Amino acid sequence: MLTPLITEIQRFSLHDGPGIRTTIFLKGCPLHCPWCHNPEAMNQKQEIYFHATKCTTCGLCTQVCSSGALTLDQTPGNQAVRRFDRSKCTLCFKCVDACLFRAIEVVAKSMDMDSIVREAVSDKMFYTGGGGVTISGGDPLLYPEFTLELARILKTKENVNVAIETTCFSKWSKIEPLLEFVDLFMVDIKSMDTWKYKKVIGCSLQDVLSNAERLIRSNANVRIRLPVIPDFNDSISDVKDFVDYLGQFAGKLSGVDILPYHSYGAGKYTNLGLVNQYDGVKDLAGEQVVPLVNALQQKGLQVTVGGVAVMTTPHDTQRGPAYTTVV
Ligand code: SF4
Ligand code: SF4
Repeated sequence: MLTPLITEIQRFSLHDGPGIRTTIFLKGCPLHCPWCHNPEAMNQKQEIYFHATKCTTCGLCTQVCSSGALTLDQTPGNQAVRRFDRSKCTLCFKCVDACLFRAIEVVAKSMDMDSIVREAVSDKMFYTGGGGVTISGGDPLLYPEFTLELARILKTKENVNVAIETTCFSKWSKIEPLLEFVDLFMVDIKSMDTWKYKKVIGCSLQDVLSNAERLIRSNANVRIRLPVIPDFNDSISDVKDFVDYLGQFAGKLSGVDILPYHSYGAGKYTNLGLVNQYDGVKDLAGEQVVPLVNALQQKGLQVTVGGVAVMTTPHDTQRGPAYTTVV
């Protein structure tokens, strides 16, 4: 069984399904969405996360780095600057312990199943309002056997509500066994354009839609998550395509969560030494997704924006939706 590293186990999570939840983030995703808000979860391996603002250029880390990845240089103005050549890093993590200022962190850790379950259910008493545990990533379907076993233990031994966040990129044979143990599938659909899926995101739209439809036909509890990304899927024709497609499933889907693009994760790219293709792209305001919200609601779908329920009445349709938090 391929076992993932755990990026984080986040307690009191309010945006990864109903109620108060604990979210387990597995490290690794086969897709490469250029706007990803969790770039630390893309790679399956451990990585160095460097907080430049915490670095005092004391040079302690360079003294323990035998690979030459970390060096302390002088600028022409005689200022010390700590440089990091990731291509030379052997991931020995000696620098992490050497830094007294917590400027260097390791992303993700190895945990056995018992420890993951123990930590995940330690807040069980707070799982009110339909809360529980969400298995997220990366994409949990990159580790189908592990995810199935985790869901099975959480459901049958711990008796907690289990949700999964996935892109549904995988084979149906890897998804179907989860039906027995998963209470809610949150499925990302990022575009209705086959070419964009293949070239930009890196998987087959046909597979994603086929899996989502099979989940719906199996009477699974399914929410669709739509990240709305500037100049990728926010045009009038994108909105029409989303609405035409999802409108068929009114009454069968438990809802649609619209996730307007935000740049909160931008700093992570720098700290991980990655190029952020969305550097400088402005956050989408809630108002910018109003046409999509209204059109989906008119099809009879229940809609949230960023996990916040949208209550539109005839009185306020001119002003756009009002939001109330779902708990
Ligand atoms: S992890 Fe090891 S090799 Fe990499 S920068 Fe730190 S000390 Fe150097
Ligand atoms: S030990 Fe920490 S604070 Fe000192 S130079 Fe290295 S990263 Fe910066």
